[in-house]
Amino acid sequence: QTAEVGVIGMAVMGSNLARNMARKGFRVAIYNRTASRTNEVVAKHGDEGTFLPFHDLANFVTSLERPRRIVMMVKAGRGTDAVIKEITPLLQPGDVLVDGGNAYFGDTRRREAEIRPTGIHYVGTGISGGEVGALEGPSIMPGGSTESYEAIGPVLEKISAHVDGEPCCAWMGTDGAGHFVKMVHNGIEYADMQFIGEAHALLSAAGLSNAEAADVFESWNHGDLNSYLVEITSRVLRAKDPRSTVTDLLDVIRDEAGMKGTGTWTVQTALELGVDVSTISAAVSARSVSSAVPLRKIGQQALTGPQRIITVEDRQAFIDDVRDALWSAKVVAYAQGLDEIRTAAAEYHWEVDMGQVASIWRAGCIIRARLLQRIKDEYASGDLTTLLEAPSVKAELARCQQAWRRVVARAVEAGVPVPGFSSALSYYDQVRAPRLNAALTQGLRDLFGAHTYRRVDDEGSWHVNWSGDGREVRAD
Ligand code: NDP
Repeated sequence: QTAEVGVIGMAVMGSNLARNMARKGFRVAIYNRTASRTNEVVAKHGDEGTFLPFHDLANFVTSLERPRRIVMMVKAGRGTDAVIKEITPLLQPGDVLVDGGNAYFGDTRRREAEIRPTGIHYVGTGISGGEVGALEGPSIMPGGSTESYEAIGPVLEKISAHVDGEPCCAWMGTDGAGHFVKMVHNGIEYADMQFIGEAHALLSAAGLSNAEAADVFESWNHGDLNSYLVEITSRVLRAKDPRSTVTDLLDVIRDEAGMKGTGTWTVQTALELGVDVSTISAAVSARSVSSAVPLRKIGQQALTGPQRIITVEDRQAFIDDVRDALWSAKVVAYAQGLDEIRTAAAEYHWEVDMGQVASIWRAGCIIRARLLQRIKDEYASGDLTTLLEAPSVKAELARCQQAWRRVVARAVEAGVPVPGFSSALSYYDQVRAPRLNAALTQGLRDLFGAHTYRRVDDEGSWHVNWSGDGREVRAD
């Protein structure tokens, strides 16, 4: 019996993906460096479909129908490189090797370029949804040659999440495009979570208990803010400490956020591309500050300021304002993330369809949200330079922006840190301003470094002879 698809790596992600494939009717060859893990999958889940277990990579490869379709789900970095080294001599031109791990897109570009001359298709694929998603239907972002998608696309589409019959899986572009889109997905996830944290901090400052805040998030989840993260926020806010029946879980969790690095990659890459992802940057930095224990200890002792209490006369009106601020900031994070993808696509010659990106994030992944349907629809009616210009988005922002300003102002007055909400609002005001403070920057640069400036009323580059006669000279 031949296998239709193979999965390498039987840790939590790989085994769940293989089970998902088997449940969907594919005959799945499975292999893991340590044989016991492969045996365990067959012993525990062998009745879910057709698994062909192998303890030898060459036999695993031989069992597959050609062109071979192989998905690697191994430890990102050295694990991936080790498997590639071992398997490529066993493969033939036309075979498709998918890396479903969390690879850095630059590594994927390098690996794809190294493998391309062999005729093997290397497909860097972002997979989001964690272990439950891998089993029940993740959001899948494959990048690679168009031929490779013809071979592997149908399998990936079948095992992905679906919305109204449409798969949450689509070809994202060549080489690193899939992993790039996944990276930005994670960056937006960071921003989304930071905004939720700020909304909760504001509700707390206004006197709401965690349980009351949980009710607020639950009600928001029935409206435009409907999303997985808002949904689980109310669950976490409502949870009691498993060691006690009275204390809230939130109050016993250390206030130090961890991270694994994809948010940092998103920001670093955006800096290199010259794109502003200030909301994601604020979210990454907020996690860093939260974990800087000595700094915070000193700050608490040395620095004075208001005591984070917001006195509200109309509680519901304040809650509604926070809702509008949360929605607006979230839109800005998506606008910035999509701008990063659009800019990278131009830089790396990827044909990324922004509507498709929004479409495949609608289910299966961590940032799944009602907003993504709106984004998909807006891109379907025409290309956009920024999401903020989309008719329904700009109309809603126009409605929300006064509330957003009130929330940021109240937060600043009360000393509640809102780096996410305020950086999002600054971006909004920056991109709509007819003039920023860049003219002065250019003037200063010309004075101290003869860096020249361009004029509003003439072509070319100009320089003032600051230390001499003060005359303007053409500099190009
Ligand atoms: P791990 O990242 O913990 O990796 C363990 C797997 O990699 C095992 O199968 C292990 O084999 C294999 N492996 C490690 N080094 C080597 C090597 N040198 N040669 C061969 N095999 C090796 O597994 P996960 O299931 O958690 O994640 C798999 C991938 O998916 C990772 O890239 C991870 O970043 C990504 N991931 C994605 C998530 C998502 O939501 N999309 C969530 C979690 C992970 P052995 O058993 O022999 O040690």
